[in-house]
Amino acid sequence: MKFDFLSESDQAYFIHKASTLVEALPYIRQHSGKNIVIKYGGHAMGDIKLAQKFSKDIGLLKEVGINPIVVHGGGPQIGAMLKNKKIKSNFVEGLRITDKETVKVVEDVLSNDINQKIVNDINLSGGKAESFSGNKDNLIEVKKLDMSIADSDSNIEKIVDMGFVGQPININNDLIEESIKKGNIPVISPLGIDSKGDTYNVNADTAAGFIAGSLKASKLLLLTDVAGILDENKKLISSLNVEKAKKILNEKFISGGMKPKIITCIDAIEKGVKQASILDGRISHSIILELFTEHGIGTQIYT
Ligand code: ADP
Ligand code: MG
Repeated sequence: MKFDFLSESDQAYFIHKASTLVEALPYIRQHSGKNIVIKYGGHAMGDIKLAQKFSKDIGLLKEVGINPIVVHGGGPQIGAMLKNKKIKSNFVEGLRITDKETVKVVEDVLSNDINQKIVNDINLSGGKAESFSGNKDNLIEVKKLDMSIADSDSNIEKIVDMGFVGQPININNDLIEESIKKGNIPVISPLGIDSKGDTYNVNADTAAGFIAGSLKASKLLLLTDVAGILDENKKLISSLNVEKAKKILNEKFISGGMKPKIITCIDAIEKGVKQASILDGRISHSIILELFTEHGIGTQIYT
């Protein structure tokens, strides 16, 4: 049958749109009622158009009965603010060494700036976002991170003082679950609090993974600024199991911020999360493509 009012290319376009919706149906059924933790961060957050699409996608998940829980990062924005204030910053294994002065900047940028912006964006898209700071109401309890690295010459392990960098030890699940029950979308800043009441900086991937594990989420999605895990030839690794993920961790081609991401995915899966994905947040609607289409995008890590 012909639609006389549409050109042939328009017809093909709309038919394709309709089939995409139909293709999504089994995936919507599969994920409906489940908790999905999404780490949103890095450079995708700085692009206004992408940020608007992200908020719409999160709203759409909620509308089809999925419970998205957003944990955001802020590396580039924190970096810019530190530079502005002329505070030097160093990274070890992809994690920022955080002294007292730095943790204040981290808290300010994450909780007062980025978190509010994401909440506003989601609300403007018609969703109901609820703001949470990880260091309030014992949401993310941490202990100081123990870090040691092998000296490149002697290979002897050397302890590195990371300052106020926290390792999550407990999540206040009730707080998140109550928010979900109210129909809200929790938006969480990756800060932690220790037993003395000090605020810590937590790598956003680590925070998202720990929350996913604690809530027994069905999925963990880590949005970043690369296609996924790239191999030694810079080719995308589209899927791998935990055993293989553990093996590649020590390979030379895995460095910087990709290390905590992979460790996070492994930990989350070992705590019962069914699947963890590292995907390109620079692609429009990356979450929708990953969840609702046959092939997904990025790197999927599974048991
Ligand atoms: P985010 O803000 O998303 O956490 P990070 O900079 O912390 O971003 O981590 C992502 C970065 O990890 C990439 O931009 C890339 O430079 C780096 N990286 C290191 N090794 C790899 C790898 N094998 N595959 C992909 N990215 C890698
Ligand atoms: Mg990072």
